Amino acid sequence: MPSEKEEDTWTLSEQQMATVRRHLERVLTDGCWVCKKNDWIILAKLSGEKPYDPNANYLALPDSGPKVRITCKNCGNAAYFSSDVIGLNIAPSEVSSD
Ligand SMILES: [Zn+2]
Repeated sequence: MPSEKEEDTWTLSEQQMATVRRHLERVLTDGCWVCKKNDWIILAKLSGEKPYDPNANYLALPDSGPKVRITCKNCGNAAYFSSDVIGLNIAPSEVSSD
């Protein structure tokens, strides 16, 4: 189980959600690439791998790190966006506390 502190870190704040919405509005101008609607659910918790840990027993990819998950409300198409590229500035030390 993640600690309470880690739970807080992986949950997006209102400000971070606003940053995510601005990013999606900028890059998803054509809407969902499956059904063409433009109505998304943004998961309020970060997903994906923690930053690279040489002691971890999973394969850490070069782009590993927290991701924002979105799902199309109409067709269920789902995608991940890098929190770094979006600009959420989540420090690795904040999410690597095992
Ligand atoms: Zn869709």
